[in-house]
Amino acid sequence: RKRVIILGVAIDDVLMDDALAAVAGFIAEGGPHQIVTVNPEFIMEARRNRAFRRVLAAADLATPDGVGLILAARWCGTPLRGRVTGIALTERIAAAAALHGWSLFLLGAAPGVAERAAAALQRANPGLRIAGCYAGSPHPADEAAIRERILAATPDVLLVAYGHPAQDLWIARNQPIMRVPVAIGVGGTFDELAG
Ligand code: UDP
Repeated sequence: RKRVIILGVAIDDVLMDDALAAVAGFIAEGGPHQIVTVNPEFIMEARRNRAFRRVLAAADLATPDGVGLILAARWCGTPLRGRVTGIALTERIAAAAALHGWSLFLLGAAPGVAERAAAALQRANPGLRIAGCYAGSPHPADEAAIRERILAATPDVLLVAYGHPAQDLWIARNQPIMRVPVAIGVGGTFDELAG
């Protein structure tokens, strides 16, 4: 996979089909893997936040989210082929999940939103398995209890909507114990899906 570096942050030059192939590979391989969807705000945050910078660098897949990133890459002379946003990736993973029998866990957003987002994904993809939905909170005090829920639900894919950098730091801290095959920080995706 070709990687492009923009202001010190590595991004994989992937199109949606490449990203989906990587997800399928991670699931076949077993956990833990982490995917980040990088937009310009991620890059600005990484400049002042060393822990976040490390998480982005260690991610198994960093997709180019946001039109600003495509423009920045072109301007740097290292063009990216296209965008893979958190919401589009979520929708395509849900379709592949319905086909292959993968289960999804939706963590984060305001109470009730993950459930509505899951219902929307199931309407679009009959037969889609939802392992669980939980708002929870990104506070470290709640981490152990949330981890237990996820471990009990054994999802193939964990979507975390706590906004950046909280969601990505949360995944990096907890993946060594949870070992979910694929965990992705998806920002405002549940709000968008819930409508
Ligand atoms: N969120 C949350 N708990 C928090 C902070 C944020 O569940 O303590 C959720 C919020 O409800 C929203 C998402 O995280 O669904 C953040 O979306 P946003 O589009 O702001 O993500 P960003 O662009 O910051 O990554």
